[in-house]
Amino acid sequence: MDYYSSKITALIDEFSRLPGIGAKSAQRLAFHVISMPEERVNGLAQALVEARRGVRYCKECFTLTDDELCPICASEKRDHGTIMVVENTRDLAAYEKTGRYEGVYHVLHGAISPALGIGPADIRLKELMTRLAGDVKEVIIATNSSLEGETTAMYLSKLIKPTGILVTRIASGVPVGGDLEYIDEVTLLRALEGRTEL
Ligand code: ZN
Repeated sequence: MDYYSSKITALIDEFSRLPGIGAKSAQRLAFHVISMPEERVNGLAQALVEARRGVRYCKECFTLTDDELCPICASEKRDHGTIMVVENTRDLAAYEKTGRYEGVYHVLHGAISPALGIGPADIRLKELMTRLAGDVKEVIIATNSSLEGETTAMYLSKLIKPTGILVTRIASGVPVGGDLEYIDEVTLLRALEGRTEL
């Protein structure tokens, strides 16, 4: 038997499909939405739809952006000869928040994981190699220090080294298994400054 109106149940269902949202949180969110002024609910719904529809991949670094080129790739102030390789856009955002990294990025959208059947062809590796044909001095590998992140780093370094481009790995100030996005800015900067050549 349904305790709630079928519309509330449908809303709870939708919320509970989101990552990290359990049954209780889904319920709380659904009731919160019902109590919100209609205007704000419309704003939320519109933001959801527009984000899904309008966001695309930067044609250079493959981060999520509104335009053909993201603001970082479009900027002349950035050092386009230094590319930091990250697993996802959230990791890019973590490094951008430090405000101290002047290079550009490459977003892989994942990491190599034989256990999950994710191979080199399933992430944006080919696109990175295409970029390296240009004028690149250094590739900083900033994948997570998880098994997948380390596997990806090793694979990348083997792939890039023959090109003669300097390949570095951020220092292990980043805790093992740690997701970059949860790490404070000081630790991120220390990891970047202490990077070592692979
Ligand atoms: Zn970009």
